[in-house]
Amino acid sequence: MRSSSGSSRKLSGKKSFVVAIDGPAASGKSTVAYLLARKLGFTYMDTGAMYRALTWKALNTGIDLDDEKSLSQMAENIRIDISSRESYPGIDVYVDDKEVSSLIRTPQINRWVSIVSRVPGVRKAMVKLQRNIARNKSVVAEGRDIGTVVFPQADVKIFLVASLEERAKRRWKELQEKGISCKIEEIREELHLRDKIDSEREIAPLRKAPDALLVDNTDLDITQTLEKLLGIVKSRIMI
Ligand code: C5P
Repeated sequence: MRSSSGSSRKLSGKKSFVVAIDGPAASGKSTVAYLLARKLGFTYMDTGAMYRALTWKALNTGIDLDDEKSLSQMAENIRIDISSRESYPGIDVYVDDKEVSSLIRTPQINRWVSIVSRVPGVRKAMVKLQRNIARNKSVVAEGRDIGTVVFPQADVKIFLVASLEERAKRRWKELQEKGISCKIEEIREELHLRDKIDSEREIAPLRKAPDALLVDNTDLDITQTLEKLLGIVKSRIMI
């Protein structure tokens, strides 16, 4: 496989590389992006965690989530620190020095994060933050607008999808393993609603970049998905 310029790029001679992975909720992006980053020795960037962290702060300070101006100001001033762990789930997330890694993955955050994320001022601030983190580094970044907006010049772009049924099943299993009981129908509904808001918003909607490769992992497990993505990356970037 060749890059859009018609030739694979060599790792030597180029300072840093960007692998962009976008896709709907629970398509396995986080896990595979984390594992891929470790295999490649790149920095893993979970952009969803940033929108989640901001949503957590907004809910905790009680600002009106319809107040776009306040949300945008909060996004410009928030301090989000993300550090990598040795094993998955691969990051610790801090907001203004408070550790929020598990607090940003609750049903309440799932419910509001897409509402907060559609605010233009919020997106502007988060994209700036993401580009700063990636400056002079090789990254595997995952989210909704990585290949279309954040890093349109990414070296490799992947759009990772799986059926809604399969994604709901995976999320349900994850929650069961954490001891959280819930109905699979509710998860399916939440994922569907979040994808709808993310895909229909005016700014940076969830969309496959024209030059992204579509990978459907409905019938693949995480090891097979990782192998597939690693193959794609290696064919595009000669490492
Ligand atoms: O990837 P994750 O499910 O953690 O993302 C949570 C939410 O953050 C998404 O549903 C979306 O609303 C928002 N998001 C976004 N742009 C990104 C990453 C996440 O709008 N690049």
